[in-house]
Amino acid sequence: MTSTIQLVNPADEQPLQEVALTSAADADAAIARAAAAAAAWRRVAPADRARLLRRFAAAVDADVEHLASLEVRNSGHPIGAARWEAGHVRDVLEYYAAAPERLFGRQIPVAGGVDVTFHEPLGVVGVIAPWNFPMPIAAWGFAPALAAGNCVVLKPAEMTPLTALRLGELALEAGLPEGVFQVLPGKGSVVGQRFVDNPLVRKVTFTGSTAVGKQVMAGCAQQVKRVTLELGGKSANIVFADADLEKAAATAPSGVFDNAGQDCCARSRILVQRSVYDRFLELMEPAVTGLRVGDPADPATEMGPLISASHRAKVASYVPDDAPVAYRGSAPSGPGFWFPPTVVTPDPGDPVLREEVFGPVVAVVPFDDEDDAVRIANDSEYGLSGSIWTRDVGRAFRVSRGVEAGNLSVNSHSSVRYATPFGGFKQSGLGRELGPDALAAFTETKNVFLATEES
Ligand code: NAD
Repeated sequence: MTSTIQLVNPADEQPLQEVALTSAADADAAIARAAAAAAAWRRVAPADRARLLRRFAAAVDADVEHLASLEVRNSGHPIGAARWEAGHVRDVLEYYAAAPERLFGRQIPVAGGVDVTFHEPLGVVGVIAPWNFPMPIAAWGFAPALAAGNCVVLKPAEMTPLTALRLGELALEAGLPEGVFQVLPGKGSVVGQRFVDNPLVRKVTFTGSTAVGKQVMAGCAQQVKRVTLELGGKSANIVFADADLEKAAATAPSGVFDNAGQDCCARSRILVQRSVYDRFLELMEPAVTGLRVGDPADPATEMGPLISASHRAKVASYVPDDAPVAYRGSAPSGPGFWFPPTVVTPDPGDPVLREEVFGPVVAVVPFDDEDDAVRIANDSEYGLSGSIWTRDVGRAFRVSRGVEAGNLSVNSHSSVRYATPFGGFKQSGLGRELGPDALAAFTETKNVFLATEES
């Protein structure tokens, strides 16, 4: 008997549709199909593989509204954000469509012959995606993997498979051969585990929690299987007294409450220089209380619901009744997994300062000087992203070099651009996605020496 999952719209708790869950045997069959397709896919001429990826990008572009509406209903993302996410998939595909014709090796001077390197595809790549950004994160894995000549099996998160399934259909419509890109909705412990254990899968890219990422890494170690990990975060937004305080305060909520805080890059700790701490809290209040939280289908909405009732309960556990709440924004009452944007001012040692809440809760803490700011920012097992607000250019670079995180922005909260590398320090991950070097993570370097001397 095939088991299924009942999807629920997180904005109104209404049942959406049932989706069949892939069994372990069906996952293995799909992996075998991918391995069989890999031999032909790697031999497709570079210009033809590029053309197919551009067609895939065009198919996604033509489907942006549809994909976005699926994400609104399945994940509760505001429609404006969902449109951006679908467009981002198109952009990532277009960016990596340039890669097959530019996958250069090197010619290395050696005695007695010619030495060249090739970037060979790995074979089958398994992409395991989380529920918070179903479309973009899947594309960060499958686009460069396909461009480098690999076949891909993609497992979306249990609760959010709809856009991934649609992307699988669009790939086929665009002309990608059968077996090159397959989407397998299912459980992590079943399908994800087959990606880790099945030796035909040569690489796993995993995005999700640090706890599961450690298990995936340990499992992959059994086969020395390649692995890229994008894990949790507890990023700091550091605001110095010399910053444009009005702008820093007005934008701080978007740096943490985007996607209802369900963002690995959420700046969930705001560190403010002590001399402007009270003024900053005052300035930020209207930006938090004025945040438009509500129906994700409404284009004016800035923040939607959380993904599920159990996730809301987890987020709420970080704000007990006696929590030091500075102020809260609004949230609809009635059905839906709503949680208001919440600002807390905790004492050192409070779990809200250390653990990833993955919801719309931000902790504001004071610091004394540059060294103190860097010390507090780095006092975390995570190191994914962060922001630095200052008008002093030297300080901006000093602090950027001091903070142990993979993606920093100065006087802004930008983390992800498809053309620049993305990934974490410490327990936020292993390896980098996106940018010009992502193909290295989906290829093996092969060195070939050809003798030219006669003896
Ligand atoms: P999760 O770890 O519960 O699940 C992630 C994926 O792994 C899902 O597809 C799940 O089905 C699968 N999985 C679960 N158990 C597995 C197993 N034993 N073997 C193989 N796969 C398994 O994470 P989540 O709750 O879906 O996502 C939220 C987490 O993801 C947060 O910690 C967040 O910070 C992190 N995240 C990180 C990034 C990044 O780029 N660093 C981006 C987005 C989300």
